[in-house]
Amino acid sequence: TQAILLASRPSGLPTAAQFRFETLDLPTPEAGQVLLKTLYVSVDPYMRGRMNAGKSYVPPFAVGEPLAGGAVAEVVESRNEAFPAGSVVVGNLPWQHYSLADGKSLNRVPTDQAPVSYFLGLLGMPGLTAYFGLLDICQPKAGETVVVSGAAGAVGMVVGQLAKIQGARVVGTAGSDEKVAYLKQLGFDEAINYKTTPDIAQALAAAAPAGIDCYFDNVGGPITDAVYGLLNKHARIALCGQISSYNDAVVPTGPRPEGKLLTTSARLQGFIVSDYFSRWPEGIAKLTEWYGAGQLQFEETITEGFDQIPAAFLGLFSGENTGKAIVKVA
Ligand code: NDP
Repeated sequence: TQAILLASRPSGLPTAAQFRFETLDLPTPEAGQVLLKTLYVSVDPYMRGRMNAGKSYVPPFAVGEPLAGGAVAEVVESRNEAFPAGSVVVGNLPWQHYSLADGKSLNRVPTDQAPVSYFLGLLGMPGLTAYFGLLDICQPKAGETVVVSGAAGAVGMVVGQLAKIQGARVVGTAGSDEKVAYLKQLGFDEAINYKTTPDIAQALAAAAPAGIDCYFDNVGGPITDAVYGLLNKHARIALCGQISSYNDAVVPTGPRPEGKLLTTSARLQGFIVSDYFSRWPEGIAKLTEWYGAGQLQFEETITEGFDQIPAAFLGLFSGENTGKAIVKVA
C-alpha cells in the first residue's frame, strides 16, 4: 500500500521535502485484526508539533515512519467480530491507502446521522474541543461577549455557534473577507479580518463595546494580546491553540498583557480535548442533537487525492481551509 512517511524534521514551515511517498507491504490480518481502506484523512494543526522531536502531550512522529492521524475508513477484511466487513470506523490511522488495526483504537461510525467525514470534524475531535473548551472552561452566560480567534476553522466555527446557542454576543477573527462574510452568515454578531484590519485592538473594541467576558483562543500572538487588553472582570479564557507560533523555532515575545489577567481576576486555562475523554459520549450526543435540530451548521474543505495530504496539511498554516480540512482518499 502507498504510505506517506516523515522524511525529516522541519525547521519552520514544513515543505514537500519533509514528506516521502513509499509503497509498503501489508500482511494479511491476524485474529483480532481488520484490514482498513482509508476513506477520509483529517489534517490538523497539532500534527505540526508531532513533527518536532521532544516531549509533548503526544509522542513525536518518528523519522522514516508513516505520519498518522484521525481518519475514517471502511473495513474490507475482518477478523474481529466488533468490526464486520463493510462497517465504517474512525480512529487514529497511518497516512496509508490501506492499513491493519486491532479494534482497540477504533470506533464504529453511524452512516445515517451525518456525512461520515463529520466524525473528523463536528462530531469528532474538533467539535468536542469546541464543546468542552467553551462550555466547561469559558462557561458563557446569556448577554456576555465571547471572542473566538481562528473563528472560521473547524473548532472556531463550532465555538461561535455554541456561544450563540448560549445567548452570548459572538465576535470572531479570521484571515479573509470571504471567511468574515461566512461567519456573519453563520450568525456571528461581528467578524474581523485580522489580516487587513490595521488596528486589531481598535476593531475588537468596536466589535465588543461591553468588553470581553470569554475568549476562546485558537491562535495566540497579536490577536490574543489585543483581546487581553479588553477583558472584563472575571473573564474566562480557554487556551485551545497557538497556531500563529507553531512554525516558530523560537516563540516570539510581544507585549506582556498578562497584567490584565490580574486586574480583571480573569481565569486562563489551557486544555487538551483528551482531558475530557470520559465525557466524549456526552459531547458527541449533544453535538449530534444540535446538528439534527438544525441549530449547528458545519463546513468542510475537502481536498481530493491521497497525494494531496501534505499540501492540505500545509494549507492550514496559510488559511486555505474554511471549516474542517479533510482529504478524500477513496
Ligand atoms: P483550523 O480549521 O482552524 O485551521 C487552522 C486555521 O488557523 C487556518 O485556517 C487559518 O485561518 C488559521 N491560522 C493559520 N495561521 C495563523 C496565524 N499565524 N494567525 C492566526 N490564524 C492562523 O484548525 P482547527 O480548528 O483544527 O484547530 C484550531 C486550533 O485549535 C489550532 O490552534 C489547534 O492546534 C487547536 N486545537 C487544540 C485542541 C486541544 O485539544 N487543545 C484540539 C484541536 C485543535 P485564517 O484564514 O483565519 O488565518
